Order: sequence, then structure tokens, then C-alpha cells
Amino acid sequence: MNEDVLARAEAAYLGLALGDALGATVEFMTPREIAHRFAHADGVHRELVGGGWLRLKPGQVTDDTGMALALGEAILIHGGEITRLACARAFDAWMRSKPVDIGNTVRRNLVLFRRTGYPTAPPSAQDAGNGAAMRVLPVALATLAWSEHEVRDACRIQAHVTHNNAVSDAACEFIALAVQDFIRGASLREVHRLRMQPLVEAQPAFAFRGKPRRENPSGWIVETMQAVLQGLVEVGGFENCLVDVVNRGGDADTTGAIAGMLAGAMYGRAALPARWLKALDPEVHRRCAEQARRLVANSP
Ligand code: MN
Ligand code: MN
Repeated sequence: MNEDVLARAEAAYLGLALGDALGATVEFMTPREIAHRFAHADGVHRELVGGGWLRLKPGQVTDDTGMALALGEAILIHGGEITRLACARAFDAWMRSKPVDIGNTVRRNLVLFRRTGYPTAPPSAQDAGNGAAMRVLPVALATLAWSEHEVRDACRIQAHVTHNNAVSDAACEFIALAVQDFIRGASLREVHRLRMQPLVEAQPAFAFRGKPRRENPSGWIVETMQAVLQGLVEVGGFENCLVDVVNRGGDADTTGAIAGMLAGAMYGRAALPARWLKALDPEVHRRCAEQARRLVANSP
């Protein structure tokens, strides 16, 4: 296995955790509140200091990273196979572990799974939250060698456990395919043409270029992706991209997590700030790096 591919996979996974930990500090705050709170730092939040409404320790992550790690573990235990039941059981076990936070759609449909044993959520136009997209990374890594059609199917298998929604699907599939392109060395220009343009053509709600700066992005996947894609396209460098995205406030841990996977894969392992990696929860750091390499190496 090519070391550059493995290192970019690792950067994507660490990027997810770093974006989650950075963004969680300012989750549900407005850009004005963030500027006021970080007035001592020129009004910009750019360190892993913890806190936020969840009162986190510095470098602590939330459900975004927690669910991704649970999903990755399940994929590895099943030898790279991705099944609805294995995903549902892994998420259910994660929910029992008393995580610091959990999304409403995730909770509702996992409670339904406990009751029925049926691992697919009912289709719902309302369930277009970002909860399936935030945890899709292990599927992208485990299916690196699969065809595009198979990657899209695998994305929907993991997503539909809690989010059975076409708009969520479009974002999950976009994220997985774009992360894979970046891991293989594609440029931002290529990913823009190959993935971002088709996403907006298929689902015009995702349009982000030439639109006003998306601030206070909600948990609706459309607003989440607008903030992520504007940051990714308009701001150069891993650190500056994540800082731009989370300082928009709103669902900042999740925009940070998704921007982190994409920017990590794009800019590579050497672009991750050393001081952020040092501040990240050491156990999370270890698990993300290990899973990334194992998921890619095992991809049949
Ligand atoms: Mn979270
Ligand atoms: Mn969130």
C-alpha cells in the first residue's frame, strides 16, 4: 500500500477529530458571540480549548468522531463488510455508552431499532440532518478500491440506519467520493469539477458559490455543506479552512468535522497543526490514526 495514500487517510480521520474538537467550543454560538468571546485573540477562535455548551476538556471530541469510530470498528470486525445490521448494532452500542451528545434523528431512529430490530429508518423528508454525513468517513476509507456505484451503495447502508433521506444521501456520497479523490491525489480544481458541480446540479439547494457567506449553519445538511464547501473553496490551508468554517458558528463541531475530513485528505498529514494534534485527546488520536490505516489497508 502506497504510504502517501495511508498518510492522507490518516490526515482525513485526524482532521475529522480536530474539526470536531475545535468546533465544539463554539457550537450554537453566532459569529458575533464568537468574536466577543475571543476578543483577546483578535476575535477569532483557533485553539483546542474545550468548553462550549458541553463543557468539554481541551481536545475532547463529540458524537461526530464517536459515531465514526464506532462505525469504523464495526467495519473492521466484519472484515471490511458493511451491513445495515452491523452498523445499527454499533451505533446502538455507542448510544448505550452514554456519549456527551447525540442528535435527535439519531436517537429517535436508534430507539426505533431497539424496539423493532429492523436496522433501516423509515424514509422521511424531515430527516435531512447532517448526522449521517458527519460519520461517513470510515465507509470512504473501507471502500477506496470499490467502484463508484458500490461506494454510493455503502454510504446509503450506513446512512439509512438513522437518516433515510435523499438530500442526506447526496451529501454522504459526495463526501465519501471527494475524500477518496483527495486521498488518491486529486486537486481541489478536479474535485470541484468532478464532484461539487454534479452535487449542485443534482440537488440545487446545495449551491454555495456566489452565495452570501453561510453563517450560523444549522444541522440541516444543506446549510452544513454550504458552510463547509465555501470554506474549502475560498480559504487555503488546512488550519485556515477549519478556522473559517467553525467561526461561522451554528453547528460548528459538525461543519468542523466534515471540513476536517475533506481538508485533511486534500492537504495531507504534514498540514495538520502540531499544536492541535498535541492538544487532541490522546486515545482519540491513537484510534483515529490506527483505524484509518487499517480500513484502507483492508479495502479489498
Ligand atoms: Mn457533535
Ligand atoms: Mn454538531
